[in-house]
Amino acid sequence: MSKRDYYEVLGVARNAEEKEIKKAYKRLAMKYHPDRNPDDKDAEGKFKEVKEAYEVLTDAQKRAAYDQYGHAAFEQGGGAGGGFGGADFGDIFGDIFSDMFGGGGRGRQRVVRGDDLRYDLEITLEEAVKGTTKDIKINTLAECDSCHGSGAQEGSKVETCPTCHGAGRVRRQQGFFVTEQVCPTCHGSGKKIEKPCSKCHGDGRVHKAKSLSVKIPPGVDSGNQLRLSGEGAAGENGAPAGDLYVVIHVKDHQIFERDGNNLYCEVPISFTMAALGGEIEVPTLDGRVKLKIPAETQTGKLFRMRGKGVTSTRSHYAGDLICKVIIETPVKLNEEQKTLLKQLEESLEGAGTHRPKSSTFLDGVKKFFDDLTK
Ligand SMILES: [Zn+2]
Ligand SMILES: [Zn+2]
Repeated sequence: MSKRDYYEVLGVARNAEEKEIKKAYKRLAMKYHPDRNPDDKDAEGKFKEVKEAYEVLTDAQKRAAYDQYGHAAFEQGGGAGGGFGGADFGDIFGDIFSDMFGGGGRGRQRVVRGDDLRYDLEITLEEAVKGTTKDIKINTLAECDSCHGSGAQEGSKVETCPTCHGAGRVRRQQGFFVTEQVCPTCHGSGKKIEKPCSKCHGDGRVHKAKSLSVKIPPGVDSGNQLRLSGEGAAGENGAPAGDLYVVIHVKDHQIFERDGNNLYCEVPISFTMAALGGEIEVPTLDGRVKLKIPAETQTGKLFRMRGKGVTSTRSHYAGDLICKVIIETPVKLNEEQKTLLKQLEESLEGAGTHRPKSSTFLDGVKKFFDDLTK
């Protein structure tokens, strides 16, 4: 029986790349697979033909020989049925499927990286603005210092897992499909520990309270996260550790409120100061500064102090401090003070020029009622 050309069998060009060959093979193998074509001799023959073509064309040496000599290259010493025709389905499919599923080929262990951890850290506004260093304590899984993460008792041997031969995974054929699972014997480590470490029971990790010094950069705000690479839980059997995420929470401040880069505060002033003007001291995070209050200042007026807010970590742009003045009503007045106030009030009566807000307000009220009665 004369054989068909391997490239023709797979329907690929002579210069096809391995990827194309694999793709063509997968498609044809699915089509002619005996599971899908029971008792179909023709399909079975096609399947064998496709498989043979694939085996030759994906082996660089065999492909080169085939390109040079054609089928004659394999006619001696074994022939098509012996040399490479005998491999079982599982193996070939295993290779293809592990490629498809992104498995890294054989012999690679499942690396179980340690868990990432989260630590919630409360800091004051001053610390958030200026930056600080905080010592924190976390309970984590750390590398066992008795076996240095290997999980084996000192002097005991670590062997390759007999079930998965070190791959950490096992393949199982179910009908046409090959599934891959974590090896039930070694749970993915690929190793068999003769005598597990008595301290960590073979895990390579132990629970430990760990102290860390965390540097907080200036300008952080609530919700910001700092990632400390490799400070999370240790991995199984010496695998890399996870990361630690420190989540910042800024405590409420008794004077300042923060909104982004700006700081807000309320400053009480006396009503005489509001009327006559003057100078007060207001707090900033760098200490007190003087603030000039102009005469005839109304309650609720905002004074902006540029650059006295928070400098952002990212843009290095400084926000402002915004002070809102609140006029205080004097309390616990004695008779003399009350008399003085009444005298002042009488002197202010008459023309509305002394009460800018009231006159606007009263005009508004009058108009409102006039409109209603129309
Ligand atoms: Zn140990
Ligand atoms: Zn195993």
